[in-house]
Formats: sequence, structure tokens, C-alpha cells
Amino acid sequence: MNADLVHDLFDREHLWHPYTSTHSPLPTYKVDHANGAYLYLSDGTRLIDGMSSWWCVIHGYNNPVINDAMKRQIDSMSHVMFGGLTHQPAVDLGKLLLSTLPQSMNHIFYADSGSVATEVAMKMAVQAHDNPKRTNFATIRSGYHGDTWNAMSVCDPVTGMHGAFGPALPIRYFAPAPECKFNDEWDPTDFRPMKELLEKNADSIAAVILEPIVQGAGGMRFYHPQYLRELRHECDRLGIILIFDEIATGFGRTGKLFAWEHAGVEPDIMLIGKALTGGYMTFSAVAASAKIADRISASQSGVMMHGPTFMGNPLACATALASTKLLLDSDWKKRVGEIAHIMETELRPAEKWNSVSDVRVLGGIGVVEMKENVDVAVFQQLCVKEGVWIRPFGRNAYIMPPYLAVCDEDVRTLSRALLKILEEMYGK
Ligand SMILES: *Cc1c(COP(=O)(O)O)cnc(C)c1O
Repeated sequence: MNADLVHDLFDREHLWHPYTSTHSPLPTYKVDHANGAYLYLSDGTRLIDGMSSWWCVIHGYNNPVINDAMKRQIDSMSHVMFGGLTHQPAVDLGKLLLSTLPQSMNHIFYADSGSVATEVAMKMAVQAHDNPKRTNFATIRSGYHGDTWNAMSVCDPVTGMHGAFGPALPIRYFAPAPECKFNDEWDPTDFRPMKELLEKNADSIAAVILEPIVQGAGGMRFYHPQYLRELRHECDRLGIILIFDEIATGFGRTGKLFAWEHAGVEPDIMLIGKALTGGYMTFSAVAASAKIADRISASQSGVMMHGPTFMGNPLACATALASTKLLLDSDWKKRVGEIAHIMETELRPAEKWNSVSDVRVLGGIGVVEMKENVDVAVFQQLCVKEGVWIRPFGRNAYIMPPYLAVCDEDVRTLSRALLKILEEMYGK
């Protein structure tokens, strides 16, 4: 790697990156272009992408089919307001999404990003209750729902952003994160704290929001499907709305098209984003059941109180349509299974290391959880040397490659590089 070409001085001095200090910014690497499963740095170094740019880029970069769909849409119309107007990409995408979502889902709200989708879903829940007492939310610890105000309030209170914002954030109800792992035998005591919390506070709770099966940025935890079945039952009993945040888990990443399918439990409101456009554009959608839509429309305000400027942006809709069609036309399920198998074979040996606390694989996600926090700057320097792109977070070093672009050999290289670097830094 040629450091002069790859680290940009203007960037270092003037541009904020996610969660960084201006005093001691973490190093950034300049990408010149990307293709398939590869990122090319400005000095020509090729990196196998192990992150899918944070869950999004499921088809890989520079996909000709999505590129074409976008170019055609740009030549027709990039944007038009959604107030009083509609267009074919919005309608076609809506039809396609509803055909893939839980049967109870009946209405779609297009939003700008995952965080905004969380805000919209929380507003929907409050509006659907139309009861000034039922305006709060319950969730589980270790969750992540985005960086805007209300989204932050339901992120994990310890590892999330509560420390920085403290009393400025609304106070939510937190149950412990489920302990029972995805493949464990179900332990009925696991749901008890949530059950008690909901029973005690039902009068003030509009909804429970959580990530089904896989908790992503809050700890890469995979929990037992039975938890969601118990939760559905309890929410129904207490008149609490159930919101699934599938922004990270959607579009095949966990081995099912959406993670609710692992449990067979349908939410009342569901959020999708990230891989919705195959990582080409920021875009998200909030789906709601007919019942929720009816309740909002029958509420005092009578309308769903949200309407962003770029709502239903035609370019984003056309991109999402192309990406989702491409996914559904592929044998994604088989491919995700094959990738899971390779990661399982390659990563499992690390389970015995003294430096490692857990190894887990589900679908296109392979996680090595260390006993201490991983030094990101050092780790990434070694990554670039190995020709891979992996960005650890906290104690988790994980890979989630672009499953429809990556070849078997690249998955093996990613897995082996991950272990090699961890061994070099923390020993076996
Ligand atoms: C990334 C993420 C969000 C936030 O999405 P943004 O597009 O970054 O605002 C919300 N929920 C989950 C589960 C996520 O993984």
C-alpha cells in the first residue's frame, strides 16, 4: 500500500467519519473504485469486501443490471414530489415488497434512511394508539435502531449513545437481551423479564421495537426464535404493537428472506432498509398491517403525520426494484447457505482459543467475539496488508460478504485473514 496515495490529508483534517474525533481521527483508506466483491484503493491495492458496506451491498459493487436500471430512471426522472403525485417505480416496488413481506403487511411508507424508518414506525405506533398515556416504548438491551433522537432512545443504553446524550433522551423500558442462543434449547425463563416488564407497564407502552433473531450493531447476537413467539403472544394479550426492525436482517442475510420467518411471527409494523437498494442509495420503508393503518386513519389527526421531501424518490424506488428483483431471481438461499458453510468450517477452530469468547455463524454473517475490544486501527492496517476489508466493532470481528458477488475462494480468504490477524494481535 502506498500511504501517500491512500490516506487523504484534507479528509483527515476536515471530514467527519462515523463516530470519530477530529483530534485523533482513525485512519481512512481512499477507495478509487469498486467492482463485484472487490474494493480498489487509490494506489491500486485490491481488497476483498467482507462488510458489504454495512449489510447493504448484497450484489457486489458496480452491478450492471442495477446500474442500467438507475441510468434509465435518471433519463426519465430522478425525482418528483410524492405529495399529490405518484409514479410507476413507487407502485411496482410497493407491489413487489408486499409480495415478499409478512401477509399481514398491507401499507408501505417510503422513508429516507433506516433511522428515519425507526422514527416513522415509532410515530405510527403512538398515532395508532391515539391515547396520551400509551406513548412509551419497550425494547431489549444490545439493540440498535439508528442515530436519530428516538432511534437512539431505543438503542442499547450502555453500548449505545445514551452516555453522550443522557437526560436529553426519552426514557424507555429495557428488558435484558435474550440469553438463549439461536441454536440452544429454548429456556422459558429467558422471556420472563420482558413478560414482567410488559405486564407492569402495559398502560404506558405503545409498542415493543426490536431486531428479530439477529441483533446487529448492538453486539452481533443471534437469539432464539421462541423469544419472538412469546413476545407476539404477550403483545396481543396486552394490546401492545410489535415492531420488527429488519433493516439489517432483511433481503436474505440471515438465510431467510426476512428474519421473522425463522420464528414464523408476524409483526404489526416492519422496517426495511440497508440492502433494499443493494447499497446504491439511502432508502428505507416502513410496512404496516391494515389494522395499524386503519387505527391511524381513525385517530384524532386522521392522517399519518410524516412526509419527507424525498419521500418515494423515483430513483431510489427504481434502484430498490432492480435490486430486489435481481435478488429474488437468484438462488440466494442456496448461496447464503454455501457461504455459511465455508465460514463455519473456517472460523469454528477459533472457538478453542483463549483470546476468543465465542464463534457464531448464521446465514451470511460470521462472527468471532473476542474477550477484549479489538483495536480497529491496528486491525485494519493488517487487513489492508492481507488484501481484505473487515471492520471490527467492540469485541466483535465479523464478516458479512456480498453474498451474490463473492466466490468461495474469497470467503475462505476473508475467514482465514480474519483469524490470522486476530491471532497476530491477541494470540490463540
Ligand atoms: C443500520 C441500522 C439502522 C439505521 O439505519 P441508517 O440507514 O444507518 O439510518 C436501524 N436499525 C438497524 C437494525 C440497523 O442495522
